Amino acid sequence: MDVYATTPDDEAFLLDLLNTTPVVDGSPTDVLADRAGATRWMRDHGVPTGDAEWTALVRVRSVLQAITRGEQSPSALQSHLDGVRLRPAADDDGLHWQLELDGAAAGAARALLAWDGLRLTSPGRLRPCANTECRLFLIDRSKPNTARWCSMATCGNRMKARRHYHRTRAD
Ligand SMILES: [Zn+2]
Repeated sequence: MDVYATTPDDEAFLLDLLNTTPVVDGSPTDVLADRAGATRWMRDHGVPTGDAEWTALVRVRSVLQAITRGEQSPSALQSHLDGVRLRPAADDDGLHWQLELDGAAAGAARALLAWDGLRLTSPGRLRPCANTECRLFLIDRSKPNTARWCSMATCGNRMKARRHYHRTRAD
């Protein structure tokens, strides 16, 4: 049975989380590495700002990044599911799934469920940017499903320019 418990907002949340380790001026950075930056990010994204939330968010991020890069199996998510429950509630439209957290971290649970929602509704569309020097991720919403860059303006143009450079040098 497929259960959709997430919305496009949750998918945007997931992508923002995966993209908190960008390369800036050639060096890998981490927005969540220090308490001040993490608190700001969590507050901006509606995540409770406690220490347990922070730790869980960083741990789940690295697992989801590794899974998206094909370096780890989704079974690695098992240890992040303790206390995560979904309860159906009926209204005039039908059933809605409500997230219940029995001691689990809200931000990490939201990211996990969003990842799985994407897996079901948009298989293969969450992927790493094809620029190997970029550590960002993208969700491909295009019809042909051929997007390769986190952003055409940055990585897309940079990679095109590089190919052009190599091509003209080869000539
Ligand atoms: Zn990129």
